[in-house]
Amino acid sequence: MNTQTKITIVTDPILLEHDTGGGEHPEIPERLAVIRDRLEDDHLAPFLNYSQPQPASREQLTYFHTEAWLNRFEEAVLSGRTYIDHTDNQVGYESFNIAMMSAGCGISGIDLLNREHAENVFCLTRPPGHHAEPNMPFGFCFFNNCVVAARYFQEQGRQRVCVFDFDAHHGNGIQTAFEEDADTLYVSIHEHPSFSYPGTGWGEEHGTGDGAGTIFNLPLRPGAGDKEVLALLDSTIESAIAGFNPQAIIIAAGFDGHTRDDMSGLNYSTELYEQLGRRIKQWEQQFCPGSLLSILEGGYEMGSLADSVQAYLNGLVGG
Ligand SMILES: [Zn+2]
Repeated sequence: MNTQTKITIVTDPILLEHDTGGGEHPEIPERLAVIRDRLEDDHLAPFLNYSQPQPASREQLTYFHTEAWLNRFEEAVLSGRTYIDHTDNQVGYESFNIAMMSAGCGISGIDLLNREHAENVFCLTRPPGHHAEPNMPFGFCFFNNCVVAARYFQEQGRQRVCVFDFDAHHGNGIQTAFEEDADTLYVSIHEHPSFSYPGTGWGEEHGTGDGAGTIFNLPLRPGAGDKEVLALLDSTIESAIAGFNPQAIIIAAGFDGHTRDDMSGLNYSTELYEQLGRRIKQWEQQFCPGSLLSILEGGYEMGSLADSVQAYLNGLVGG
């Protein structure tokens, strides 16, 4: 193991208080708790630092989101609503402030990279973000944490930003943000939209206008696993990233493609996430040293979620 590489985990206890109703909803506070417990007990523990974020400001959220959505979200929780638009999007009284904190994890992580020379940052956060659209919540997501972080990286001088999304689902909100933008690259591996939520992310879509050629949707058939992902990494994905030559990389780190997680039909092993961590670390060193940020997205089966995050971080530190 490379003992020089440390990872800063950006997280806050308030993130556990986003209340999704306590019923059958899969996006539960325990997700963060099991990861935290695992990391504290693991041999990785000496390589991890912890840092508490600041919430994203309204100005930072409106890099992507509309003021109308911010106002609607805030009014809904303050009036005691238990979900917004769809029962997937469960909220409690504090959910607006907690979602601001969740988006703030990426911004605070970028500040750590830029100002404190943190080597590597993993945002251990919820609610997740990659389905959130400019004016509405979607699929457990309220603010698009990856898009807000990408825009903040750009504001801080990293113009060409790549988001690589290995969550089992397509990040429709990230594609919305980036598909007409020449300065961003979105690469997503996900279960094919014919079979999987949210039904977006078709391979024929490559971006439009100035953004033509900056979207790479790589849908996989149900049952696909490590072999298919590694083949894509070796071919399409590495050439797309090399061609773009990013100044910063954000990882939409979702772990619901694991074979034990029934939120998708994908068959990823725990070891695949370690391989992903290793490859991603190599991209950072090759293209943008000191400008890699990982943000937790999905992952809903507690045992495989803890296993997979542990494996991913092990890959990032060079284990
Ligand atoms: Zn997902």
